[in-house]
Amino acid sequence: MHDVLIVIDMQKDFIDGSLGTKEAISIVPGVKNKIEVYQNANKKIIFTRDTHDVDYLSSFEGQHLPVEHCIKGSLGWQIYESIWQSVRNDADITIIDKPTFGYTKWRDILDPLKITSMEICGLCTDICVISNILILRALYPNMDMCVDATCCAGVTVTKHKAALEVMRSCQVEVI
Ligand SMILES: [Zn+2]
Repeated sequence: MHDVLIVIDMQKDFIDGSLGTKEAISIVPGVKNKIEVYQNANKKIIFTRDTHDVDYLSSFEGQHLPVEHCIKGSLGWQIYESIWQSVRNDADITIIDKPTFGYTKWRDILDPLKITSMEICGLCTDICVISNILILRALYPNMDMCVDATCCAGVTVTKHKAALEVMRSCQVEVI
């Protein structure tokens, strides 16, 4: 158990929507279970949402990945329904809408919490999970950081494993 659980982009479009994969679907029960554990311990849970505008396809990301996804306000942008249903009303949660892979204002949220450890899970291992982990590692060189490999999925299985190796290199505990 760590001080905070960060759940990256567990949104419909990445699970069974426009960019969904069977690997992403398969991690849903594990992520729900993790949310349950942190809630029961009254720990803070931070959700991120990949968030694009309707002009996504003309953006840099859209030109390199021409598949519309996570358009703000759309069904695919929502946190996956069964995951959201497992969040209790009294849970200590924060939701971050981020326009690109890595969120750059983590300190605004995390500094006031005075935490020493964090666990990160979600999608996709080789894009948004690792982007945020490396930003967090740069901001918090002494933070005890942990990733549960069974609660992440990559664009492909090979890329998922490669990203986990890079995380290990950057002193993130991979369980
Ligand atoms: Zn995106």
